[in-house]
Amino acid sequence: MRVIDQIYIDGAFVTPHGEELADLFNPATEERIGQVRLADARDARAAVAAAKRAFPALSRTSKAERIALLRRLHDAVAARANDLAAAMREEYGAPAYFVGFSAAHAAEVFLNMAKTLEAYDFTRTIGRAQVTMQPLGVVAAITPWNSNAGFICGKLATAIAAGCTIVIKPSEMSAIQTQVVTQALHAAGLPAGVFNIVTGRGDVVGAELTSHPDVAKVTFTGSTPVGKAILRAAADSFKRVTLELGGKGPNIILPDADLDTAIPTALRMGLANSGQACVAGTRILAPEARLPEILERLKAAVAAIRTGAPDDPEVLVGPMVSQKQWDRVQAYIRLGPEEGATLLAGGEGRPDDLARGWFVRPTIFTGVSNTMRIAREEIFGPVLCVIPYRDEAEAIAIANDTAYGLQAYLHGTDVDHMRAIADQLESGRVVINGAPHEPLAPFGGFKSSGVGREYGVFGLETHLEPRAVLV
Ligand code: NAD
Repeated sequence: MRVIDQIYIDGAFVTPHGEELADLFNPATEERIGQVRLADARDARAAVAAAKRAFPALSRTSKAERIALLRRLHDAVAARANDLAAAMREEYGAPAYFVGFSAAHAAEVFLNMAKTLEAYDFTRTIGRAQVTMQPLGVVAAITPWNSNAGFICGKLATAIAAGCTIVIKPSEMSAIQTQVVTQALHAAGLPAGVFNIVTGRGDVVGAELTSHPDVAKVTFTGSTPVGKAILRAAADSFKRVTLELGGKGPNIILPDADLDTAIPTALRMGLANSGQACVAGTRILAPEARLPEILERLKAAVAAIRTGAPDDPEVLVGPMVSQKQWDRVQAYIRLGPEEGATLLAGGEGRPDDLARGWFVRPTIFTGVSNTMRIAREEIFGPVLCVIPYRDEAEAIAIANDTAYGLQAYLHGTDVDHMRAIADQLESGRVVINGAPHEPLAPFGGFKSSGVGREYGVFGLETHLEPRAVLV
């Protein structure tokens, strides 16, 4: 059993001052596979001090120097893609298709940020003013367990591009992925203190970072309740914040959709990362006139989906990350019928052929009204609701009738018409007919899905402060 007992501060692997140990599990087998020693508030303060010392030199680097750092980081992470994929499979049971995307993405974010930087002008003239975009200072980044490596690398890439140093607190449930990524980033040979990685508990290390006076900005990906707590903690010292939070994405099948492609695409978007994705399209909105046909096809398509261990390439739905998450998803599956919904597929318990592991049966509810809790709350598992609509206006109203606004999906044949519908959706991104990720376009949410945007120039500017000099 492995023990991860080092954190990364000031360019070196060090033993944390914190002594608490947390267990690590393989969710496909429920076996305990290791332990991680958690950092404490004193470790967090040491990391912030190192980042503060490294800031003046990094903030003065040229664009070309930062681009060179980003390329080094890309090469170092790309060289460990296989190890990272193995860690993701073992530690959170992500299916092969997701691991493939996610491990590559963790390296590519550096090249994408280098591309953004190449085209970015840090100075501009506005009338009599010379405006310069200044790096904010020390950034604290806090990441969730789902796709932890991608978030660590994305937040690090943005900080470096802006000339900010960073302290990263990854999820305590992703320590194996964090270890692989940290070793890779260390191999890139950046100056000491530019990035520091302290795995610890949210209410200890996370809380210290979000209230520390030397931290200028917090960039957080995680749940909406924790996002609120961070916003409050950051207010005292006016920290800048980027919050990437939860979602309850509408997945709208339009009346003219070709169901041969729309149904499998809508299901893929709904069950992304075994349903453990902020961007999952978990509310399938179906036109009433085609409802019987859509339900029949959804039922057949979900029956064909393979649920199981992540080393099987045919698997689309892997296990939930933890016993706690499994219990939570089961509670929602029980809640559906209590609220008056009907099971079209799935239900409580594990799939019949899986005796252990935190696996959930891919579940679809019909007879759902958008007022039910299963339609309003983020379940974070493979549980979908089908909500019928009479006409387009009602579809848009239901889509927008949610606290969230991260990513919406449209399925149809008339792309111009879908663009017009997209203009009416309260959503940070709208994906038409399963379009692939666009890495330089802004990503982030309306309403309770967050504050600010990541990626590309929109992400870069959240780490910069304009200074205007008037002559
Ligand atoms: P979480 O909010 O429980 O934890 C996220 C991180 O915050 C962890 O590192 C945790 O230790 C830390 N944390 C907890 N309490 C804290 C506190 N008081 N102060 C500072 N930090 C604290 O989320 P999770 O369960 O790890 O991840 C799942 C959630 O993340 C879902 O809600 C999902 O929608 C969201 N998510 C959002 C995006 C996005 O880009 N919008 C992407 C992935 C996940």
